[in-house]
Amino acid sequence: MTGNPPPYRELQPDEWRRLLARAAVYHAIRGRLGQLCEMEQDAAVRTVLSRLDEAVRSCAGSTADDRSMVTAVVRRWVRAVGRIQAWQDLDAEAASLLADLKKLVRAACAEDPFAALFARIEALASQLYGAAWRPAMLTVARLPDHPRGSDRDPYAVTALTPWPPEPPPAEILLWICDDAFGPATYAAIPILLIHECVCHVAARQEKAKNDSQFAEGFLDWAGHHFLRIWAAKLDPLSAAAVEEHAQQLGQVLFHTASPRERRARQLGRQAAGDLLSWFQSECQMGREEGCHRVAVLAIELNRAKRPIADKDQFVSLLKLPFPPAVARRLRAWNDGRATAEELLDLGLPA
Ligand SMILES: [Zn+2]
Repeated sequence: MTGNPPPYRELQPDEWRRLLARAAVYHAIRGRLGQLCEMEQDAAVRTVLSRLDEAVRSCAGSTADDRSMVTAVVRRWVRAVGRIQAWQDLDAEAASLLADLKKLVRAACAEDPFAALFARIEALASQLYGAAWRPAMLTVARLPDHPRGSDRDPYAVTALTPWPPEPPPAEILLWICDDAFGPATYAAIPILLIHECVCHVAARQEKAKNDSQFAEGFLDWAGHHFLRIWAAKLDPLSAAAVEEHAQQLGQVLFHTASPRERRARQLGRQAAGDLLSWFQSECQMGREEGCHRVAVLAIELNRAKRPIADKDQFVSLLKLPFPPAVARRLRAWNDGRATAEELLDLGLPA
């Protein structure tokens, strides 16, 4: 028997199988991902994770097909978890988690969980953009090292959409460091793919720099808004963990960014926050409705064929109290009497 060829051109067969085996296990136990991450310091849980690592390493190099390989990893890991369950000093919480993991992991299958998740996110993002959507494809690739090289950062993953766009589809690259691919990394993948789809795939401007307050601050705020709305649609079992790790990864990225990038993110997010307060106080919206209007505006601005400098300039005007001309035009936009392009004109020199 020979192994299946990897579905991604960037990966060697054994690299793909190491990523697939872990992802298949995390997907099967996704209802316990949050608890698994929270208890990672517990000796039994730490051992459970290192036994998974050993099972993956010993089975992924085989020439078996993907399904047999995943089955072999699961069988080996279940046996290891069983041995840990026999520990004398296991506390009740760990014992209950281990029992759940052993039961849940039996549902692990060898279907590509990255592709399945990406297809659902792409479908949701394309609804937001309508005719302006650019079809996208996912490429999973292996990172030899942790993207930020930090042992206190559990997110061994990063994503990007290469620029300039080739003829469709746009390609989203998801880079995962297989050696450090733990449950927190898996839980953070949805927000990374949502950020790429919502902020970059359909963008109608030149390449967004990491210090763009529009792309990495204001639009990223909208990405997090859609994650909250979509998390349960993507998967109710992992929704809580996915939201939690989206927040935590956001913090990590913020603190590891350069001072200039950090400032841009902060300004873009503050602009979104001020606009939300303005919608609530001036347009009598509830919080949820206000959040949604901010996110809708972010999408409309992203869709406008204008330079990113115009969009950054407009976002920089959103500081409370808004200048009267900005407030007037925002009201007009909210009532359907002004377009996103006309809002962008506000930032142009008179
Ligand atoms: Zn970005």
